[in-house]
Amino acid sequence: MDYEAIFQEALQSLRTEGRYRVFAELERHVGSFPRARHYGLPEDGADVTVWCSNDYLGMGQNPSVLRAMVEAVERYGAGAGGTRNISGTHHLHVELERELAALHGKEAALLFTSGFISNEAALSTIARLIPGCVVFSDALNHASMIAGIKHSGAEKQIFRHNDPADLERLMARYPAERPKLVAFESVYSMDGDIAPIAELCDVAERHGAMTYLDEVHAVGMYGDHGGGVSERDGVADRLTVIEGTLGKAFGVMGGYITASTALIDVVRSFAPGFIFTTALPPVVAAGALASVRHLKQSGEERARQQERAARLKALLAEAGLPVMPSASHIVPVLVGDPRLCKLASDTLLLEHGIYVQPINYPTVSRGTERLRLTPGPLHDDLQMARLIDALKDVWDRLRIKAAA
Ligand SMILES: *Cc1c(COP(=O)(O)O)cnc(C)c1O
Repeated sequence: MDYEAIFQEALQSLRTEGRYRVFAELERHVGSFPRARHYGLPEDGADVTVWCSNDYLGMGQNPSVLRAMVEAVERYGAGAGGTRNISGTHHLHVELERELAALHGKEAALLFTSGFISNEAALSTIARLIPGCVVFSDALNHASMIAGIKHSGAEKQIFRHNDPADLERLMARYPAERPKLVAFESVYSMDGDIAPIAELCDVAERHGAMTYLDEVHAVGMYGDHGGGVSERDGVADRLTVIEGTLGKAFGVMGGYITASTALIDVVRSFAPGFIFTTALPPVVAAGALASVRHLKQSGEERARQQERAARLKALLAEAGLPVMPSASHIVPVLVGDPRLCKLASDTLLLEHGIYVQPINYPTVSRGTERLRLTPGPLHDDLQMARLIDALKDVWDRLRIKAAA
């Protein structure tokens, strides 16, 4: 067997379709983000502006976060030294879990090494533990939720994206005594639209179902304390589980779920993805704790992010660029072709010093390939003006469709 040839063939098919991923090699510097150095063509060390970071609020370089991490590494060392069960539970993990539970108004919380693993571990465990459970999953749910639902072995129904009526239609097919779980996100990161959480909860409650909300793209950014869209909408108490990441707006790394004491204890006790892996380093927990606490009492970063996003959307529309409608801080610009999308991204990087990665199938559906901009509190007016000029140039030269 020529195994190498099989691997090469698989990669070639990605290249042919224009969806082979090339990572930009970057080096961010404290104090100058969203500027960064880029390694690769045209030369190592070129200065670029990052327009697609998920460090949405610049907390990855917030002084209080950095101070907490430096102090923690000096005091507690590099790693946790074990799984949570085998000597790896640090006092900081427990404190962070308490803080996260309070953030979402829940009894308890559980940390994971990433948001991906939190979704995979929690959904697979919850749905597997309840005999006969049916999972109702939004059509645009993240890969980590899909993996969790799949690994649970439970029956699955997919409802139309953000559509409570379709959820109702599907749920009505099942008897009241059948256990049910509805899984969805608050902010969808590719379109920037926001789920009608209260309406979805109405349907779930009518059918006696549990609800599981992924707030990965909302925690830190929505609600008066950064508790996400569920806090903003005053519906956190209607959700059975609220899940989040410490790696995006909180600027560090890790994932978590918050829920009732019994549900958290069940995931802690039964989920292999939680049990059989080394705990987050105390230094990471320290940074995340500082970040959560900072954003709990400071609304400045949130307000500035919303202002920057509104400003960028207005500038794009004014320039005739096809900005897609979005209810959040996420600003997608339609290209509509995978190869043009990659080419647009390459041209922006090589000729304009602007980094925004192409978003192609399977992340979004074919024909809706796009550039996804994430303006944040640290992008200034000059950087925005340069971005608009660069996009106009690239749209003209590559003959990409303008706004309708
Ligand atoms: C990024 C993402 C995750 C995974 O979070 P990580 O902490 O990056 O592993 C989960 N859900 C959604 C919707 C995401 O976009």
